[in-house]
Amino acid sequence: MEKLYVIYGGEAEEMGRAIMERMDIARDLASLKKENPRICLKPNLVVAQPAQWGATTDPGLVKGVIGYLREHGYNNMAIMESSWVGDDTGKAFELCGYRQIAAEFSLPLVDLKKDRSVACTVDGLKIEICARLLEVDYLINMPVLKAHCQTGLTCALKNLKGCVPDREKRRFHRLGLHKPIACLGKAIRPHLTVVDGIIGDLTYEGGGTPVRMDMVIAGRDPVMVDAYAAELIGYRVAEVEYIGLAECLGVGSAAAGEDSIVYLNRRQAARRDEPALASREVDYLRRWILEKEACSPCYAALIFALRRLKESGQLKKLPPVCIGQGWKERPGELGVGKCTSGCRRHVRGCPPRAGDIVVALQSWLRQ
Ligand code: SF4
Repeated sequence: MEKLYVIYGGEAEEMGRAIMERMDIARDLASLKKENPRICLKPNLVVAQPAQWGATTDPGLVKGVIGYLREHGYNNMAIMESSWVGDDTGKAFELCGYRQIAAEFSLPLVDLKKDRSVACTVDGLKIEICARLLEVDYLINMPVLKAHCQTGLTCALKNLKGCVPDREKRRFHRLGLHKPIACLGKAIRPHLTVVDGIIGDLTYEGGGTPVRMDMVIAGRDPVMVDAYAAELIGYRVAEVEYIGLAECLGVGSAAAGEDSIVYLNRRQAARRDEPALASREVDYLRRWILEKEACSPCYAALIFALRRLKESGQLKKLPPVCIGQGWKERPGELGVGKCTSGCRRHVRGCPPRAGDIVVALQSWLRQ
């Protein structure tokens, strides 16, 4: 069975390297039986904003992946991206720290907005794809785990939209996004997805409501990655239509149960030196949280779950929720995570997924 790999922490570069080692990606590359295979790293640089804003891939994570590949003798790499319509990829490379990476490792940055395109047809839908992408031997997709204002989630499959020309991006929106995203996943299925879940965004793909989750997720199956990611931000897989569509097209499997996850470590205590989360929206949701020493992934899962309850108009009825290691063996009413098992009712997991928290809180609200 295909696996997902999860590592918790805040050190992006180390985490990137560790997850590549654990997955033994060098073996995947060797199995291509190509001398000096062409490797593409496709981050998410949708806007020209540093990763702390929640929208773009942490350059440290990319450095960790490059470092691993270099150590294993792979040097033929390029970073390719095209920012969203109206933003300048060159500016994003600069502001997001990618020019420094390119200089440090002597590798090219490819602005796909300047590339020619090639037409592919998937399930009756014709799609224009940037030609450089189709020439690579091994594609490493490096999205950010975040919410999307139209599709709910943006992660593995949706990040591939940066591989099509701007006119095609606009057409994807006219087509409702879901089907073209699924078809694009079929046309350019990445070999590996390494998700930056260190800081993502609560509400919007363009950033501005950052949420610190302190985790990196990796997998060879982009559909499985997205199914897991959807639950991490509080959606049921069926609510993100393109995941099911991609599964039907044979891009991968949406079955991402606990038995398919390999944890490299268990969790990371919240880092006290930086605020875990900071935005007006997150500050509002915090009113429902009674936190004592919560780990970042646990806290983030609760924030995403509260956001989902707000969207469905149920949040105001919810009593405060206990979370964190400081609640161990202490009584309380409602808790999230195994540390709150002393509460009268609590959601299991360490950390739990936001999807499970949503289901539990909704069920308690109904009682
Ligand atoms: S349940 Fe406790 S130990 Fe586990 S992630 Fe949550 S706060 Fe941390």
